[in-house]
Amino acid sequence: MSYRRFACLILCAFGACSASKPNFVLLFADDLGFGDLGCYGHPSSLTRNLDRLAVEGLRFTDFYSTSPVCSPSRASLLTGRYQTRSGIYPGVLYPGSIGGLPLNETTIAEVLKAQGYSTAIVGKWHLGYGETRKFLPTKQGFDHYLGIPYSHDQGPCHNLTCFPPDIKCFGFCDVGAVTVPLIHNENIIQQPANFLELEKAYSNFGTNFIIDSAKKKQPFFLYYPSHHTHYPQFAGSGAAGRSLRGPFGDSLLELDNTIGNLMSTLEQTGVINNTLVLFASDNGPSLMRESHGGNSGLLKCGKGTTYEGGMREPAIAYWQGVIKPGVTHELASTLDILPTIAGLAGAALPSVMLDGFDMMDILFKHGKSKRKAMMYYPMVAEETYGLFAVRLGKYKAHFYTRGAIHSATTPDQDCPATAVLKTHNPPLIFDLEADPSECYPLPLKDRPDIQAVLEQIKKVKAEFEANMVFGQSQISRGTDPNLEPCCNPECSPKPTCCHC
Ligand code: MG
Repeated sequence: MSYRRFACLILCAFGACSASKPNFVLLFADDLGFGDLGCYGHPSSLTRNLDRLAVEGLRFTDFYSTSPVCSPSRASLLTGRYQTRSGIYPGVLYPGSIGGLPLNETTIAEVLKAQGYSTAIVGKWHLGYGETRKFLPTKQGFDHYLGIPYSHDQGPCHNLTCFPPDIKCFGFCDVGAVTVPLIHNENIIQQPANFLELEKAYSNFGTNFIIDSAKKKQPFFLYYPSHHTHYPQFAGSGAAGRSLRGPFGDSLLELDNTIGNLMSTLEQTGVINNTLVLFASDNGPSLMRESHGGNSGLLKCGKGTTYEGGMREPAIAYWQGVIKPGVTHELASTLDILPTIAGLAGAALPSVMLDGFDMMDILFKHGKSKRKAMMYYPMVAEETYGLFAVRLGKYKAHFYTRGAIHSATTPDQDCPATAVLKTHNPPLIFDLEADPSECYPLPLKDRPDIQAVLEQIKKVKAEFEANMVFGQSQISRGTDPNLEPCCNPECSPKPTCCHC
């Protein structure tokens, strides 16, 4: 049975038969931890809209990104492939990076465009800019783009620091690079970006895209990778100073407000019953930022590490009248979004090695996951070491561990960069259902049952790695300051003259 027919039967079973293709809204937070949302137990976060999606939709407890840092995680989300295949390793891309997500990779947007979808991205791309802007989203299947093409701290951010003092925006960023540009499609329309008006612009762009697509009766895909809640936090007048949680809470509130605007627009345009809304985050919280970083809840460590706090993320699926409310403990990943969306849109899967599985049984039947294992590549992925950890069912084995600068300041000494690379032979093994915080490694001695589990994990790891072909590293191609986006390319002296 084809995916499309299967999806139709499932949807009909829930009373949502429709001849038109479903729309997709993919919401992606930045450095938001497992414990940061109200619906994941945070006591003072104000996330009214996300909490509503969680209550009325399906909330995941065991959902993973593929990397503890931004660019690789986003490459996997959009391609359904581990970042090592596409070459988005080690670490992240920079404003002057020579490389980017290779154009021969097939993104969700390209899959859907071939099915007649209108496609847009609003927010943080972070998959390359490059010579002649050849790595921008418009080259990867997106019809429309408004956003900053990388992290908003990858520039001096001078209008983001605490000025004027009555505006709640905080932090210091990379000096020596160009100020961060705001890009519309392929053109710089503002440099530096005005952060205090940015979210309003994003919200308007997203809602107008939905309105236009609905008017044209064209199926659509909106990808909103927010800059919130990455450090340094900012918030416009609708959220600044209005949360209970300081700058991080304000930034999260502003993200939540935009999500509320998008949801109201889906309702007002009458497409809410034909739209799958997915929410997740790219990696764990930046604990080095203390109260300006996020929170991984009861999970160990955060951003930059292959402990659970680095890669296990909050995730929600919502489809009014189609997805029954509930909580799922099934294993799922950002990798699974491309196959799921492709199936629902009646599209063929890209003819490459994919690492994702469709989640339709989980979403529409509260059924079992097709995913049996999750692989953990470190922030600085390299072929020499390969996987740092593997989860199989409820068990996770760490073959290597290493702390990270992003997870500094925690009392747990395994998290910061001072926890140097450690090889574990035998591997550390945890039962993540009994011990989600990875506190108590299971003993192997006199435990043939645990030894058998470990052998099984080793087998899965060996089979996976035998089929892993590392793509050429795009990040190791280096940087060239001349490639940094500049609205006034002939000006001098750079980077300060890039100001429009
Ligand atoms: Mg991130």
